[in-house]
Amino acid sequence: MGASVAYHLARLGVTDVVLLEREKMLGTGSTGRNAGGVRHQFSNEANIKLSIESIGLIERFADEVGHPVDFHQDGYLFLLSTPASVETFSRNVALQRGLGVDVRWLDAGDAARLAPGLNAAGVIAATFCQRDGVADPNGVTMGFAKAAQAMGVTVERDVEVTGIRVAAGRVAAVETTRGTLDTRIVVNAAGPYARSIGAMAGADVPVDPIRRHIFIAAGQSSARLSGIPSSHIMVIDFETTFYFHREGAGLLFGMGDPRETPTFDTTVQWDFLPQVIDVAVTRLPALADASISHAWAGLYEMSPDGNPIVGAADGVDGLYLINGFSGHGFQHSPAAGRILADVITGRDPHFDLSPFAAGRFARLAAGAGERYVV
Ligand SMILES: Cc1cc2nc3c(=O)[nH]c(=O)nc-3n(C[C@H](O)[C@H](O)[C@H](O)COP(=O)(O)OP(=O)(O)OC[C@H]3O[C@@H](n4cnc5c(N)ncnc54)[C@H](O)[C@@H]3O)c2cc1C
Repeated sequence: MGASVAYHLARLGVTDVVLLEREKMLGTGSTGRNAGGVRHQFSNEANIKLSIESIGLIERFADEVGHPVDFHQDGYLFLLSTPASVETFSRNVALQRGLGVDVRWLDAGDAARLAPGLNAAGVIAATFCQRDGVADPNGVTMGFAKAAQAMGVTVERDVEVTGIRVAAGRVAAVETTRGTLDTRIVVNAAGPYARSIGAMAGADVPVDPIRRHIFIAAGQSSARLSGIPSSHIMVIDFETTFYFHREGAGLLFGMGDPRETPTFDTTVQWDFLPQVIDVAVTRLPALADASISHAWAGLYEMSPDGNPIVGAADGVDGLYLINGFSGHGFQHSPAAGRILADVITGRDPHFDLSPFAAGRFARLAAGAGERYVV
């Protein structure tokens, strides 16, 4: 998010920008631990519009931003096994198509043909969008950062933000482990740490870190794992949340763990693996003969309604938020960064940000706003 905002500000001619990263490298937070998934198939208009714009830029990324992003548009396949899910997806597909997204309904046989090796038993319907896919999060991050630097932006690594000075209700400076930067504008792009950065300025940013695992299965040799799709199609078993896509010669897969509670601990919980494997070998029987070569855990940056918080913070002039993407921030970073750069520079972003407004949670608490399901 930070790299995208910096890039888009620079494109608008605003180059007196400093991107601060506390690690020695960019993209080692949530961005460096994600599955690379990019999809149009969301359930509300605002997210679908973010996807349409973002996927357009990811398709043009190498030419326009000047960095390869290894984008495989082999599609996202959602498997649905209950009438209730089919009903939910019927509404979603109608919304997606109404916005111009080419998404198709498939039966279990079609789904199995698209993803060889898949056991589609119990699947009563599936949806597929060919332009969805998998891209390289590091490529997107480095592309934005390098292009921003080439336009005059400063990137400072190994510098931690420790405080934000606010004077008369307005941002005045950022304190870091390497000194103080006077500024009237700060963008909070701290991913799962967004709440603590907001608190430095006295702003409530309701983002909680929730651990999510990714496992990598390898074959018995360096040859490609047999019995898995040869394409990079992303398959999501909607009822269980189990998902997978080919990753190099092996397979990347994961599943949500409903027992997780907010934590910054990214230690891999190996006792979760057997639960994932139970589902995994049912849907992709070849996995029974594979070995798990490695695993990692990263943090979803969850907002209370699973949707991002983008725009000016309430109550602190000069503080802007691009937070709470709740597990779909990598793919939405191109559009979100463009939109926030427009807002910061006083331009019309041509995007209705009200579903992403920081103030909506107070309305939700009072029972007023619309609650989205993602
Ligand atoms: C397992 C997993 C799978 C996922 N799969 C997908 C997917 O398929 N598709 C998708 O779109 N999204 C996915 N996501 C979500 C996606 O990774 C995030 O939404 C996105 O990376 C958020 O980007 P960010 O820039 O906001 O946060 P981050 O990438 O975490 O960046 C925030 C940066 O702020 C830095 N920072 C924090 N505090 C400070 C401080 N005090 N001073 C200086 N620097 C600081 C951190 O070091 C970090 O580099 C997944 C996430 C996980 C964990």
